[in-house]
Amino acid sequence: MLEKKLHSLSLNQIQIEDMFWKEYMELVRNHVIPYQWEALNDRIKEAEPSYCIQNFRVAAKLEEGSFQGMVFQDSDVYKWLEAVAYSLMWHPDEKLEQTADETIDLIAAAQQPDGYLDTYYIINGLEKRFTNLMDHHELYCLGHMVEAAVAYYKATGKRKFLDVAIAYADCVAEHLGTEDGKIPGYPGHEVAEMALVALYEVTGEERHLNLAKYFIDQRGQEPLFFNEECKKNDNKCFWDDTYMQKQYYQAGKPVREQEKAEGHAVRAVYLYSGMAEVASATEDAELFKVCEKIWDNIVKKQMYVTGAIGATEHGEAFSFDYDLPNDTVYAETCAAIGLIFFARRMFEITKDSKYTDIMERALFNGVISGMSLDGKSFFYVNPLEVNPEACEKDYFKRHVKPVRQKWFGCACCPPNVARLLSSIGGYAFECSEDAIYMNLFVGGQIEAALNGKKNRFHVETQYPWEGTVKIKVENQEDSSFTYAVRIPGWCQNYELTINGVKPEYYVEKGYAILNHVWKNGDEILLKMDMPVTLVEANPRVREDIGKVAVMRGPVVYCLEEIDNQDQLQEIYLEENPVFTETFEKDLLKGVVTLKTQGKRLSEKNWGEETLYRPYRGRTYEKQELTFIPYYAWTNRGIGEMTVWVRI
Ligand code: ZN
Repeated sequence: MLEKKLHSLSLNQIQIEDMFWKEYMELVRNHVIPYQWEALNDRIKEAEPSYCIQNFRVAAKLEEGSFQGMVFQDSDVYKWLEAVAYSLMWHPDEKLEQTADETIDLIAAAQQPDGYLDTYYIINGLEKRFTNLMDHHELYCLGHMVEAAVAYYKATGKRKFLDVAIAYADCVAEHLGTEDGKIPGYPGHEVAEMALVALYEVTGEERHLNLAKYFIDQRGQEPLFFNEECKKNDNKCFWDDTYMQKQYYQAGKPVREQEKAEGHAVRAVYLYSGMAEVASATEDAELFKVCEKIWDNIVKKQMYVTGAIGATEHGEAFSFDYDLPNDTVYAETCAAIGLIFFARRMFEITKDSKYTDIMERALFNGVISGMSLDGKSFFYVNPLEVNPEACEKDYFKRHVKPVRQKWFGCACCPPNVARLLSSIGGYAFECSEDAIYMNLFVGGQIEAALNGKKNRFHVETQYPWEGTVKIKVENQEDSSFTYAVRIPGWCQNYELTINGVKPEYYVEKGYAILNHVWKNGDEILLKMDMPVTLVEANPRVREDIGKVAVMRGPVVYCLEEIDNQDQLQEIYLEENPVFTETFEKDLLKGVVTLKTQGKRLSEKNWGEETLYRPYRGRTYEKQELTFIPYYAWTNRGIGEMTVWVRI
């Protein structure tokens, strides 16, 4: 029952031609991947050095030097290679593949005879390895290595990187476990859990699944491993004096006893993704129930309207239910990406659109906000409200930047965006034996074998700016299968036809299920009304009382100073605003803007000398308001921004 009935299509079966996503994919291919390669090699003057490739060269004894950068620096090259692998699938590129092959040669050259591969310890002394699993990220690097190696193997059929990753996984399994003489440890930063299941799916070797399952089951068992590890190796736990303690690592209690999303948000959603994978691969209903419970806690109590997660900078973490401050927010790009990983796995088990709805929300808002429209700068933190002066002068908002940054010393987010966007087709469509599921409305050509027959689909859409999606079937012979179309949660009215006629269908878990004998040229037409919608938050969200967020389809909108002047806190929407929706092709690479007559609290009769006075009612001045998509903010210079607007 929990076995995944769905699988992704290979990215070479999906040629995306859609004006929205193709643009992002080409940005990743033409700018982000080459730029990141330069960054990994420390050839970008204005950015903080990465030292990533240099560390591998030192570890491989190709040059002298010390380890530099963050302890998890190795993971950056793995994430880059993963993005490269996806890109090669839909756009073969010999030169890029050669660079990747050479990088893999370098990685392999740094690998130790017993399979160990983490440059921090190779350079600083192998006798210290596996002595600080809590904070030193050896297993995090393993996870990213495995994910990249699996992707590269699928893209090129070349085994070298896969074998390197298998050897490191085997080395880890040799040293970690509950058996006598082994270290009963697990990752301080999760990701290996889901990666090892992906490895198992490629190799079919139970030992890879077993290692993932061990990491899940051992986490949080008494005596707490991280406490024991601290005592034994004299490590310090930074979080012991905080409310999070070991739950910062989701390791304060066994995962099956956890009911809420807690601690570091990226680690959390990576863990939950791994739990969903293991639950599915081992048919573990109890573990799956935990995933469901935690999912509900996130999306019903701890998620921003943008699909972002992580309310506090302290620990880059979840804080508590309904605590969703907009201006001191964390909302790391990687955390929204991790939520998409979790959503996808839950969908693959359940075929329920409640997961793919969130996937879409996070993608269009919390994730792509993380990258500038030219693909050259990135946000780590994605605020929903910004006053640039506060970012500079308020110590508690110093983590919030009013403009995307070139590169970070801790560069987790940019390569994460790259690997997600270059594999977006795999999220859009998934298949079972006899059905294709359309999760995201992405235009292009898709090939899928269903019921043993080859099928082609041609999808045309101007989504997210228009709600019409046209799917043309291009078959050699008649073919019987199910086409399942997600009817998004935001959509209240839609029309669905096949060849102009309303077909017989039913909606199951948010998907319109079209069972049909399909002929060449058959055309499915989905027309979704896409009105502007005002969204309010549960009253327990203190920050959003008396305010609304403006959405159209899956896109969250915001007000920016450049269009609406400063002091955005003075702005009000009218009670029933009427919006003018205009597609502006030359603005922000083409967006639908929303304009409406609003109002602004009058500053007249205040004078600069008066801070307080007896209340005398409010007076407003009319003001035309312009909303732009949130993801595109601060691409036109620094200024104030807000998602939530008073009404
Ligand atoms: Zn990040």
